[in-house]
Amino acid sequence: MKKPFVIAIDGASSTGKSTLAKGLAKALGFPHVDSGAMYRGVTLYVQQHGLIENKKVKTETLLSQLDDIHLRFEGDTFWLNGVDVSAEIRSMQVSEAVSLVAAIPEVRTFLVAQQRIMGANQSVVMDGRDIGTVVFPKADIKLFLTADVNIRAQRRFDELSAQNTLTSVAEVRNNLAERDHLDSTRAESPLVQAADAIVLDATQYTVESMRDHVLDLVAERLN
Ligand code: C5P
Repeated sequence: MKKPFVIAIDGASSTGKSTLAKGLAKALGFPHVDSGAMYRGVTLYVQQHGLIENKKVKTETLLSQLDDIHLRFEGDTFWLNGVDVSAEIRSMQVSEAVSLVAAIPEVRTFLVAQQRIMGANQSVVMDGRDIGTVVFPKADIKLFLTADVNIRAQRRFDELSAQNTLTSVAEVRNNLAERDHLDSTRAESPLVQAADAIVLDATQYTVESMRDHVLDLVAERLN
């Protein structure tokens, strides 16, 4: 069996991490794990069970129920306790609370353990905020995506509009800026660039040209 090859992609919200990850996974035949979906899944559980009030998570109750939260990927479909929540986890309601839930250290430990298992004995493309720094510090290739916040907001707005979600570019931009701030300033595993990560400015590439550029880098490392 060939040695597993791990591709870690980190960066702020809506920089195109998942699009790049999906393109690489398809080209290489590796599974793709969107770790943000897992934080979103726990957040949806929190909201469904009334475990958040006025932007405060009822942490103790949540922690006592962590073992009741079962998350599963099946291709592009994401399941929370046996229910397909792939669309629901992308709602603005979840986006507005997810960074609060993701700042809880025990929630991170719970999800990081599952993420490590997914890349333990097989090749994987995983995207998130702490993949190259915490989840797979020895990843075979680490990428860090950046992009102008206005372009990110427009992208996300277009995605949400395509799903008929009522929102505005300004609302989306505020949410991105707020999550950037919370994600980069939290005490536990903040969003930081790994020292050995390759920085890619998404504004400088098309989806295809970025994927092809990274495929060249992967080929170099595989040889
Ligand atoms: O990637 P996405 O925007 O869907 O992630 C949603 C949120 O989940 C982020 O804003 C961040 O708070 C959290 N997250 C994280 N660590 C990861 C992936 C996501 O803290 N590895």
